[in-house]
Amino acid sequence: MTIQKVMVVGAGQMGSGIAQVIAQAGFEVKLNDMKQEFFERGLRVIAKNLTRDVEKGRKTEEEKEAILNRITMSLDLKDAFDADLIIEAATENMDIKQTIFKELDAIAPKHAIFATNTSSLPITEIAAVTERPEKVIGMHFMNPVPVMKLVEIIRGLATADEVYKTVEQMTHQLGKTPVEVNDFPGFISNRILLPMINEAVYALYEGVATKEAIDDVMKLGMNHPMGPLTLADFIGLDTCLYIMEILHEGLGDSKYRPCPLLRKYVAAGWLGRKTGRGFYVYED
Ligand code: NAD
Repeated sequence: MTIQKVMVVGAGQMGSGIAQVIAQAGFEVKLNDMKQEFFERGLRVIAKNLTRDVEKGRKTEEEKEAILNRITMSLDLKDAFDADLIIEAATENMDIKQTIFKELDAIAPKHAIFATNTSSLPITEIAAVTERPEKVIGMHFMNPVPVMKLVEIIRGLATADEVYKTVEQMTHQLGKTPVEVNDFPGFISNRILLPMINEAVYALYEGVATKEAIDDVMKLGMNHPMGPLTLADFIGLDTCLYIMEILHEGLGDSKYRPCPLLRKYVAAGWLGRKTGRGFYVYED
């Protein structure tokens, strides 16, 4: 199947980035959110990214305008009536996602593929509320979307091979690298990244080393661009805790238990960069 018309649901941090890369690849894309101001906020972020590209000589002013013109506002899921591919990037909440997928199922053409950008919810459970579970798949983009190459493509229990192949090809067309993953808690990215971060928090909790020393070991010794505690502050400690809980519950293994120190920081409202304090203090 050839994808021509795309809709992105949710114009937040991820949805706006996804709409940008789709428009950059030459596709028309409808960007849907609940309110016009949310769409406009997303479009402003896209315009800012593209302006930076023009300033750095990576794009011309004409290319920037052409990309922006390919993105149209949608405030109603009924606009999915002619979509070939819908990528959902709404708030990370099962009820919200299932409601959106159920509604889209009644609107979108029978051939349309439904992808979700969820970072932690089971694809199979989202697919189960539709009459087309074979056409539901995970497309897990990384943040910031215009920069990061990886898209984890997650097969739900019922996802059809031809749907996987179409999404894989589309991912290449977006200039990204697809990696195939099955539907298990945390997929691959978060199943490996979050336990590493959690272990770094345990090392701090047990007094093995200072936070700076832990980050230095991973940066200088393992060539990580950022130490795990700095990265945790960047992701948000509440998000880290939430994903550890998903792994712990979903895989039922005590090795995924969240570190008590992580719980304590979250309870204190020390959520990382976004609150000005996490493992580190951020003056700005
Ligand atoms: P966000 O809060 O920035 O954006 C979510 C957007 O969805 C908001 O604009 C909100 O108004 C909109 N929305 C909520 N309900 C809606 C509905 N019923 N219809 C249409 N729009 C609706 O969140 P985000 O960080 O962009 O995350 C979106 C998704 O991407 C989540 O599933 C998240 O787990 C996943 N994700 C996030 C990251 C990340 O680093 N932020 C990385 C990978 C995947």
